[in-house]
Amino acid sequence: MPSPDRPIHVVEDIRFRAHRSPPRHPENPERLAAVSRALARHADHLTPLAPRAAHREEIIRIHSPGHYAKILNAVKRAPAHLDADTFVSEQSLEIAKLAAGGTIDLALSVARGEAACGIAAVRPPGHHAEADRPMGFCLFNNVAIAARALQHELGLEKIAILDWDVHHGNGTQHSFENDPSILYVSLHQFPHYPGTGNFNEAGEGAGLGSTLNLALPPGCGDLEYCGLVHRAVAPMIRRFAPQMILVSCGFDAHRDDPLSDMNVSAEGYREMTHAVAELARDLCGGRLAFVLEGGYAASGLEEGTDAVLGALLDPGEARPLPGPANRGLASLLEATRAVHAGRCPDLGAL
Ligand SMILES: [Zn+2]
Repeated sequence: MPSPDRPIHVVEDIRFRAHRSPPRHPENPERLAAVSRALARHADHLTPLAPRAAHREEIIRIHSPGHYAKILNAVKRAPAHLDADTFVSEQSLEIAKLAAGGTIDLALSVARGEAACGIAAVRPPGHHAEADRPMGFCLFNNVAIAARALQHELGLEKIAILDWDVHHGNGTQHSFENDPSILYVSLHQFPHYPGTGNFNEAGEGAGLGSTLNLALPPGCGDLEYCGLVHRAVAPMIRRFAPQMILVSCGFDAHRDDPLSDMNVSAEGYREMTHAVAELARDLCGGRLAFVLEGGYAASGLEEGTDAVLGALLDPGEARPLPGPANRGLASLLEATRAVHAGRCPDLGAL
C-alpha cells in the first residue's frame, strides 16, 4: 500500500459534469457519478488534486492553433455539434481545458514523486482527438497533452502510453507515430470505431516500432486482455524502458458496455492494473497515472474504477495466466509477432 508521504492522487471535480451532453448521449455527466461512487469507497486512501485549466500553450503542443480556435468558436454557438458524435455546451472549452490541465498536473505530480500514482476522473475524454480535429466525443487529447508536458516540464525522454479503452486511440497514435520517445500500445475491438488500429500500424519513420496495436475481434474477455498484457504489452514496455507509464483508461471493454462487444470483468481490470503497476515498479520507480477515457455502462465505470484502485492499494504480484492459452489468444499473439518480433523477439512467447 502506498505510504502516507506518497499518496494516491485523484483528480475529481464536479465541474467536469458541466460539459453538458445532448439528450440520451452515451458520453454524459452521469458517467462521473458512477466513477465517484467507486472513488468514495477508497476515499481514505486518496488525496484530491484540484484541477486547473490547461494553458493554450500546453494544448497546442499537440493540437493546431486552428483546432483550439475551432473549439473556442463552437462554444460561442453552443449547444453545437462538431461531428455526428461530438458536441459542445456553453462551458465545454473551460471544462476541456480543466480535463487537460488536471491530467497534466496529475502526471507531473507522479513524475516528481509527490504521489505514488494517481487517477484523473475527467471528461470530456481525449484519445480520439486529432491534432486538427475533435472526434469521437473528444475535444482535447488529455493523455497526449500530458505526455508532452512531462517532456517539456521535466525532460522525460521516454514515456509509454497503454490504452485499454475498447476503441483505438487514433488521436494519440497519430500524435506520436513518428516519435520514438513515446511508445503507444493499444488493445481495442477491431474492426470497430474509429476504424484505425490494425496490427500492421506500427509507427512511421523514426517512430517505426514504437506503436503496438492489438486488434481484437468482438467477444474477447479477461483471458485475451490479460493474456495479451502479460505476453505482448509487458515485453514491449520492458524493452522500451519508459520513465513513466500513462494509462488511457476507458472502461468500455466491460461486459455491460452498450458501445462494444467485449467481456472484460472487474477481475480483468484488476489483473491488468496489477500487471501495469508491476511494470512501473520494475522500470520507472512506480510512476504510473490513469486517465479516464470512455466507458458507457454505469456498472462498468464503477466496477472498473473500483478494480483499478483496489489493485493500486493492494499491489500483489501480477499473476501470469496459465498457458498455453486458447486458440484465439494464440492467433492474436501470432499476428502481433508477425509485425513486431523482429524488433521485440521476446514478444508473444507462450
Ligand atoms: Zn472508447
